Amino acid sequence: MDAVQKQLQGNLAKIREQVNVAAAKSGRSASDIRLIGVTKYVSSDVARQLFQAGVVDLAESRPQAFWQKAEDLADLAVQWHFVGHLQRNKLKRTLPHVHLLHSVDSLRLLEAVDGLGAELSSSHSVLLEVNTSGDEAKHGFAAEQLPAVLDRVTELSHVQVQGLMTMAALEGGGDVARRNFAALRELRDHLQAAVAPHIRLAELSMGMSDDFPIAIEEGATMIRVGSALFEGL
Ligand SMILES: *Cc1c(COP(=O)(O)O)cnc(C)c1O
Repeated sequence: MDAVQKQLQGNLAKIREQVNVAAAKSGRSASDIRLIGVTKYVSSDVARQLFQAGVVDLAESRPQAFWQKAEDLADLAVQWHFVGHLQRNKLKRTLPHVHLLHSVDSLRLLEAVDGLGAELSSSHSVLLEVNTSGDEAKHGFAAEQLPAVLDRVTELSHVQVQGLMTMAALEGGGDVARRNFAALRELRDHLQAAVAPHIRLAELSMGMSDDFPIAIEEGATMIRVGSALFEGL
């Protein structure tokens, strides 16, 4: 085994252990939490090794890098996630490769996904990104917008909304992150019960390298981990 593979496996073992601990602590099963490897810091070769180490869900946040990696790894059964801001003029080239689009942050993008789905006769799984931190530099819907967005979703036949995604505030540490994650879960619970019982909002995509154990304690079903996977490479 080469050094990169060995380092990746070590990092991965450490992360999986943290997932187990956080899940146990909150009475959840670790198998209900999907680890998504964010490969934006590494080459296609390293991303390939990560897949070979057992991480089949990979993510990118920028279209050009996404296209390149999807092409370089086309021989692998990667489930690709897109987690960054996506302009509508990049949608056509991006969407066909995407298993789950985490970052739908406007009604216009949502409608564009539906429109492209109609063109391609396909249906696309998405999450609605929510700005839970109130940070103006961040993308995402405000919580108050979601009832209207979900009303519109009901009329769209080529998108499947599977849940919500958020990024915690950069500042404030674990306590603030926990509040942001709890806010996403409470928002989901409210929407599911009172606004859109017909749309199954099962997924909560939240938590990155610095805060994924907290996100798991607050109900994350998908964690998006980048730098912690590649430490020491
Ligand atoms: C980069 C990125 C991540 C991973 O961040 P790390 O802190 O490196 O784990 C997760 N989500 C999004 C949207 C990102 O852009």
